[in-house]
Amino acid sequence: MIRIAKVIVDVAAYPVDRPFDYLVPDEWHDLIECGCRVKVPFGPRNVLGFVVELTSETEIPLDKVKPVAQILDIEPVLTNEMLALAKWLKNDTICYEIDALQVMLPSALRAKYEKIVHLHVPAEQIHPELASIFRKSLKANFKLFEKAGFLRELKQAIHAGQVSIENSVKQQGNIKEVRKVKIHTNLDDLAEIERTISNRAAKQKQLVNWMQAHVGEVFSPDEIYEEVGVTAAVLLAVIEKGAAQFIQEEVYRDPFTKEVARTNFLTLTDEQDEALTQITSAMDNHLAETFLLHGVTGSGKTEVYLQAIQHTLQEGKEAIVLVPEISLTPQMTERFRSRFGELVAVMHSGLSVGEKYDEWRKIQQGKVKVVVGARSAIFAPFHNVGIIILDEEHESTYKQEDAPRYHARDVAIWRSEFHHCPVILGSATPALESFARAKKNVYKLLSLKVRAKKQALPAVEIVDMREQLKLGNRSMFSERLIEAIGTRLENKQQIVLFLNRRGYSSFVLCRDCGTVVQCPNCDISLTYHRSNEKLKCHYCGYDEYVPQSCPECQSEHIRFFGTGTQKVEEEIYKLFPEARILRMDVDTTSQKGSHEQLLDAFGRGEADILLGTQMIAKGLDFPNITLVGVLSADTSLHIPDYRAGERTFQLLTQVSGRAGRHELPGEVIIQTYTPEHYAIELAKEQQYEPFYVREMHARRQAGYPPYYYLALVQVSHEDVVMAAEYAAKAAEYLRANLSFQVNIIGPTTASITRLQNRYRYQCLIKYKVEPNLIGVLLQLIKIYRSEWIKKGIQLTIDLDPSMI
Ligand code: ADP
Ligand code: ZN
Ligand code: ZN
Repeated sequence: MIRIAKVIVDVAAYPVDRPFDYLVPDEWHDLIECGCRVKVPFGPRNVLGFVVELTSETEIPLDKVKPVAQILDIEPVLTNEMLALAKWLKNDTICYEIDALQVMLPSALRAKYEKIVHLHVPAEQIHPELASIFRKSLKANFKLFEKAGFLRELKQAIHAGQVSIENSVKQQGNIKEVRKVKIHTNLDDLAEIERTISNRAAKQKQLVNWMQAHVGEVFSPDEIYEEVGVTAAVLLAVIEKGAAQFIQEEVYRDPFTKEVARTNFLTLTDEQDEALTQITSAMDNHLAETFLLHGVTGSGKTEVYLQAIQHTLQEGKEAIVLVPEISLTPQMTERFRSRFGELVAVMHSGLSVGEKYDEWRKIQQGKVKVVVGARSAIFAPFHNVGIIILDEEHESTYKQEDAPRYHARDVAIWRSEFHHCPVILGSATPALESFARAKKNVYKLLSLKVRAKKQALPAVEIVDMREQLKLGNRSMFSERLIEAIGTRLENKQQIVLFLNRRGYSSFVLCRDCGTVVQCPNCDISLTYHRSNEKLKCHYCGYDEYVPQSCPECQSEHIRFFGTGTQKVEEEIYKLFPEARILRMDVDTTSQKGSHEQLLDAFGRGEADILLGTQMIAKGLDFPNITLVGVLSADTSLHIPDYRAGERTFQLLTQVSGRAGRHELPGEVIIQTYTPEHYAIELAKEQQYEPFYVREMHARRQAGYPPYYYLALVQVSHEDVVMAAEYAAKAAEYLRANLSFQVNIIGPTTASITRLQNRYRYQCLIKYKVEPNLIGVLLQLIKIYRSEWIKKGIQLTIDLDPSMI
């Protein structure tokens, strides 16, 4: 009998998107399984591939079918579920199947690592031929077995539990160093450097300009590329000019582990109990139901998760818990470890390649039953999933921005259907589309309206910073906030100060009237481009020069806006020299474990004020915090994103929720230049539903989701003319083939117009119903893959773009 393996190959330079047929040599017939990785001849060389199907038929003449060259796994690394999920991802996100397959594996399995076979029993007990290889040691390189032709015997030994295969990830000693960039400490020097850069090097100018707002601060190169939108070459160029220098920083590789005390189950409140009953009943009935657990901050959503997981474990099933990377704090993971101890695996980006692989192995081998992790943990290779939980389901980080552009929520629902188990989406401020689905009974709504310990929600006060300016107060602290901080310091209570840094420095604001210059066509704030002193709309391409005075009130106090945490820290010291401040931002938390150490110190009362960015918005739960101050509510309101209002409301609600979670009542002070914006006004009430109603209205008016769907087609090329030309071709193709109700905006330049030396253009597709959409996009991709790709064009499609 002939045996044909259908293989998805990994060819980066010339992507192909269908399985190729290879002959399985006789001696490997019972070795190769679906989900194994193999090496196969492709063109002039051997490439990596995944076996996705085994059959006895092929349409290619048999003498043309090449044989599989090498077996990389004798045990599949991907289950049948994962292979099916990859097919779905390919269609649902329009990506290459190889990308979908790769995203499910830990990077240790993507790269070349040595495979080591470990012997677990005395050598006499195993097959004598295998034993001969283990002569000298209890471990041996996989290659030796391969060369000797003992793979079949090896596989039997694995099944008998006599040996196991591990990927050895090279240990790089105990201390790892990372390279960081420290910005020059003298503002005048930086300004001088900027002056000397030629106007043609606009990106360099932009970068040095940005550095002037971050004098003396330390960033990782990646943060700079991301925040400023420049490439490594640009960064190197300005470093050569003396604007910054590279420094080495130590990172501790060993995960920060400590003993976790066990906690017991709490007696549920009535609301919690009602929610749990509905969830466990779906579990017992094997229903793939999606629940939206909408609970105010402090309502005890986590306790509901914990008890639902307990129910799952009792059924002998496994649980996947997703938490946004930013709130995947030790405090958070401890809550799971303290209940389920060794049964919990944790997956986050702070782990080394080796550590991630270890956790993945524990999951694959069934040594753990619960995984708590960031987005990619949704692919945890469990075999019998009983529940999937997404905490803070509204977070934008659940969407992956590179191919495959999947949303963890969609993958969760797919897996829940596969395993016939429920999904819980939890949030105090659900994504608008989730709440809309709950209203339509697509998701089942579970509400926790009161806090678990019946504490009142904190009182929220909005301070109008424009008034402060009129009173002659030019500092970043209002009188009200200064007074409130003073009282807390006197009473030895703790304070959290939140600096909203989203969209940092990129918009222009009038400090007298709070006006932010908007696009006349799109109702979206214009983004400031220092390089040509222009304001630009990233939706429609409209641009104008930065006004000298405010278009609303003619004030000259109009300029771009933003402050760093260090500057805030200095100001607090000036006002309260005795205050003990802990600053928590990317600089102070870059070392492994430092996040936890800072929080622990704050919890022990070693500081009065915790000052930080986004990362303090979540998860903080200390009894002595009675004041939360938001220094600038506006920044996130003016990012070029139709979700800006939603994001702001979410952020303010989350931060406010940090106060008064225990016995002492809490107070929240929000400073803003636009107190009349509904996202800020309604955050004061901390009521989600009125916000939902108001925001839905705005979305309907402007034609955004969830009323309309969006799809984003981006075209890039090293040459700006080529990029523009092919973006126009794409737009033309879409207009010719999609129905006339579909609104196609563009081509326009993308919000980051040049990335890694490629110019980027885009078309935004807005539609309500368009049955042809996927078909037309696939057709466009076909044209791209057969013709455009040769010309160096890159085309990407995002069916659910978040930042546009
Ligand atoms: P959320 O995630 O909804 O913001 P948490 O799960 O963090 O809320 O719970 C807030 C606080 O209430 C925590 O300190 C938690 O231990 C406590 N808590 C939760 N449920 C109960 C309960 N049933 N009885 C007593 N305390 C509870
Ligand atoms: Zn004004
Ligand atoms: Zn516009």
